[in-house]
Amino acid sequence: MRPGAAVDVVVVGGGHNGLVAAAYLARAGRSVLVLERRAGLGGAAVSEQVFPSVGVRLSAYSYLVSLLPDRLVADLDLGLELRDRAVSSATLLGDRALLVERDPGPATEASFRALTGSDAEWAGWQRFYGRLSTLAEDLSPTLVEPLLDRGELEGRLRDPQLYRDLVERPLADVVADHLHSDVARGVALTDGLIGTFADVHAADGLAGRCFLYHLVGNGTGLWRVPVGGMGVVSGAIADAARRAGADLRTRATVTAVETRAEGVTVHWTDDEGAVHAVDAGHVVAGCAPAVLDELTGAAPGPRPEGAQLKVNMVLTRLPRTRSGLDPAVAFGGTCHVDEAASQIDAAYAQAAAGTLPGTIPFEVYCHSLTDPSITGGTGLHTLTLFGLHTPAGLFAADPVGTREEAVRRVVAKLDAQLEEPLADCLATDAEGRPCLQAASPLDVEASLAMPGGHIFHGDLAWPVADEAHPAGTWGAATAHPRVVSASSGGTVRGGAVSGLGGYAAARHLLG
Ligand SMILES: Cc1cc2nc3c(=O)[nH]c(=O)nc-3n(C[C@H](O)[C@H](O)[C@H](O)COP(=O)(O)OP(=O)(O)OC[C@H]3O[C@@H](n4cnc5c(N)ncnc54)[C@H](O)[C@@H]3O)c2cc1C
Repeated sequence: MRPGAAVDVVVVGGGHNGLVAAAYLARAGRSVLVLERRAGLGGAAVSEQVFPSVGVRLSAYSYLVSLLPDRLVADLDLGLELRDRAVSSATLLGDRALLVERDPGPATEASFRALTGSDAEWAGWQRFYGRLSTLAEDLSPTLVEPLLDRGELEGRLRDPQLYRDLVERPLADVVADHLHSDVARGVALTDGLIGTFADVHAADGLAGRCFLYHLVGNGTGLWRVPVGGMGVVSGAIADAARRAGADLRTRATVTAVETRAEGVTVHWTDDEGAVHAVDAGHVVAGCAPAVLDELTGAAPGPRPEGAQLKVNMVLTRLPRTRSGLDPAVAFGGTCHVDEAASQIDAAYAQAAAGTLPGTIPFEVYCHSLTDPSITGGTGLHTLTLFGLHTPAGLFAADPVGTREEAVRRVVAKLDAQLEEPLADCLATDAEGRPCLQAASPLDVEASLAMPGGHIFHGDLAWPVADEAHPAGTWGAATAHPRVVSASSGGTVRGGAVSGLGGYAAARHLLG
């Protein structure tokens, strides 16, 4: 331990990235104290019993894993089971549907043919996703290496043109090079919009970056279900940190970080309001960059703005859809509703003009079909809904009323695709209330301290060196040498449930 310091490293925030940093640092022999303001660890990667008296532990916020490298799982001995879904996606279109199986076969091919009347769209889909899969294989290993500059990265790619296109051109144009139907284009575009409020026709790279990270995880881009729920992922990382000797405290809120040339002092309060201070060699910020700015007194950067509507539900049975697809197929993968390219454009235009979209594009997914363990043998099902283009600012004037209106709109649109109303399938709690819980970006901010409710703490960055993070570094440095970022938005490649931010912070400190 550094002379005069109580610990080598204080980690501010016990989200999964803070925990990954703690685990690697403690395993390398550093003394580590993690301070987490919430009652539980994991940040946005948690399981919670959302509905009192209903014995289902939902992945309350994040629910699928793609970007967590197998290498981290092996290094930290996490023993996770990440299970493939049987279906990739189903897009409900009234009495029809566009189906993409996990391993596309004749049913997928026939579905594309029925949608467009020819085989060209399916061929375009295969060409696009074939190119993306090559990009994923080539790019993914670089995420656990020090940053490359853009030229070096492109030199590693067999299809550098696709990467260049994503960086330089509007995502809508790149998608349109391969796909022609409004519906198929929309399915592809959604990956550029999950957690990002962006105009897919703009060449600002916002949607392109979000799209890239959604397609490259672990060299396959597959989104897998953590068996036992997201809390199992964070729980396993926390256990790895504890096993290595890290001290993990909850209900411990950091109130200030004082930096000096030779170390830091971290001020925090416990749940009884007692005030503490601890000296450390370094601080690892597992919290969002905007939170870190407040704690250090730095000038705040641009305020992030999340744009998603999240609805958690528990159902007694899955509803039948008008498409005729078996509910286990319709809801077994990502079930798209009102996510055609033209609907995405219309919703963006309305939201950008300051109004709640009349038709909110959204997707729903049933976790319990892939992993029945989370419903604890009750036979119930979970359904999670993720709505796009509902930025935080729309909720500011009337947070509850606007959220209720947004929920009313998505439920009505889901009902329009169903043979039976969703309300008939919702389970009820002990007081007879339907098991449906919604969160706007403002609610996410209030519960998780994610500024603006932005699920990545801010816009994602291209996975290459930039002005602040030169080639050869880990992309975790901050303006102060004693403060290192670990979080989703604080590190160049740390977005989503990836652990990459925590890994980068630890590698930065361990040299
Ligand atoms: C609704 C929703 C759905 C999502 N879906 C997915 C998904 O399916 N798959 C996916 O990969 N990603 C998803 N994401 C994104 C992903 O969950 C996050 O990007 C990721 O979990 C962030 O991890 P983190 O550890 O960097 O930060 P966080 O999870 O935000 O953790 C930061 C921690 O710091 C704590 N903290 C903040 N301030 C203080 C303080 N002053 N003192 C002490 N502690 C503090 C917070 O309480 C929090 O626990 C989703 C996010 C949301 C909100």
